[in-house]
Parts: sequence; C-alpha cells; structure tokens
Amino acid sequence: MDELIRGLSSDGFVKISAVNTRNLTEKARNIHMMLPVVTAAIGRTMAVTSIIGNSMKENGSSITVRINGGGPVGTIMVVSDNFGNVRSYVQNPAVDLPLREDGKLNVGAAVGNDGTLTVIRDFGFGEPYTTTTQLVSGEIAEDFAQFFVESEQVPTACALGVLVDRDQSVLAAGGYVVQLLPGAPEELAIAVEENVHKSGSVTSMLSVGTLEEMVYRVMDGFNVKIVEKNSIEYKCYCSRQRVLDAVVGIGKAEINKILDEDKKIEVKCRFCDKVYTFTKNDFVEN
Ligand SMILES: [Zn+2]
Repeated sequence: MDELIRGLSSDGFVKISAVNTRNLTEKARNIHMMLPVVTAAIGRTMAVTSIIGNSMKENGSSITVRINGGGPVGTIMVVSDNFGNVRSYVQNPAVDLPLREDGKLNVGAAVGNDGTLTVIRDFGFGEPYTTTTQLVSGEIAEDFAQFFVESEQVPTACALGVLVDRDQSVLAAGGYVVQLLPGAPEELAIAVEENVHKSGSVTSMLSVGTLEEMVYRVMDGFNVKIVEKNSIEYKCYCSRQRVLDAVVGIGKAEINKILDEDKKIEVKCRFCDKVYTFTKNDFVEN
C-alpha cells in the first residue's frame, strides 16, 4: 500500500512530508507502457505532486503539474487530488536513453532543461492559481526545490527517487519535502541539509525500511512527531458523463461528421486508458 505521512519537529520550525509511491508508479508504468527513464521521470513527478496535492486542504481542490523541458519525453502532466491521490500522462512513454556515467537513469536528458514547470492550484471555486518557473536540470527534485523557493519563498529540501528493476518493474519509489517554517533559526537549515546529505537516497531508504523510518532518519535530531498518515493511490476521476460533456464541446457538426463515417465516437482517457464509446443515441437532444 502506498502512503503519505506528515511530520513536524517538536520546536515547530521544521515540517516534512514523505510518500511511498511504489505501487502507483508501477500502475502508471503499466497504463502508459513506459520505459525505465520515463518511469523515473513520471514517478518522481507523481511523488512530489502527491505531496503538494495533500497540502491543499479544501475538499474538491486539486493540483496540476505540467513539465515541458524540450527533451524527448515531451510534455509530462500529473494531477493530484487534495488527499494526494495522483494520475499522470506523458507524451512519449517509450523514450530510451543510455545510462549516465554513474549508472543512473538519465532523467535530466529525457525531460530536458530548456523549458518550464507549471503548477496550477485549483481550489474547486474561483480562478485557479498558476505558477510557472524555469526548469533547473530536468531531474525533477531540483526543479521543484527551485519552484518552492520562488513561489512560496520557503527554504525547501526535496528528494525524489524511483528504482527500476531489470524487468523494468518498479522496485521502490517515493520522496520527501522538508520545509522550514517562518522564524526558524538559520542553523536549522544547515542541520536539515546535513541530514539530507547523510541519510542517502530515497530509494535506498525505502528499499530496506518503512516510510516512517525514512522520515525519522531525515529528521534525525529534530524530535519529529507524525501528525498525519494516509494511504494514497493512482486514481482517475474520469466518467462517462464527463467525457461526453467534453465530446459535446467539439460541436454538433463535427460530431455528426464522425458518426456518419464511423457510426461511433471513441474517446480514450489519457490518464487511465479507459475507452468510452458513444453512438448516435448518446447525443439525442431532450
Ligand atoms: Zn481516466
């Protein structure tokens, strides 16, 4: 089961959110038939988007992350509800690149760094709130650390990881975001940085231990208390009615044209691959 937990230091100055996203990343891999470097890019993006989504407390609110770095992967889109359940879409799931010299998947080259990271917060009412920042490396974690600093003016450490097995299935995936709250003494930032450095990679921690253990390790010395814990999953909100509404939006003339030629209109959800089929009867006016 995938999980999201939030913790707070006893002095109230440091907060951490962490996710274990192995199952939902594996599900995304199966839906989109992604090759390893794409699984890593999407997996990292889903982990951090889940964390940001969960931080939105209004019911019915959601967050959409769009990354376009000019690399072969093309556009990446991840949406999270306000619990941290995510769904994803990637333009080119079958990108294959040589490993980096250090043996790691070359996510930066696949995503590219000539482009933008856009975060759209939709509160379920009023206008959505959009923030766009320039990509730093296309490695995702650095790009989001920059986003947090620019958009929220909050010192942030962000670590994300996806470990792919030889058969391309997901062995481990997850991440964490540590943020200093207003008034935090400067030495805390240094202590957090040291902790992040010495605790090792997300996937090495999640391969051998629990999500909670990862949180305690990253927050070593901060006397952290777990304040929230909930399960998360890959979740799409598409429905026949919502898809039909979208189809109606293309206009009567276009709909009739397709129905005349094919007798039906087939629409595939880009997030979950579910296929919806509509025939003439679906468009009868009443
Ligand atoms: Zn769907």
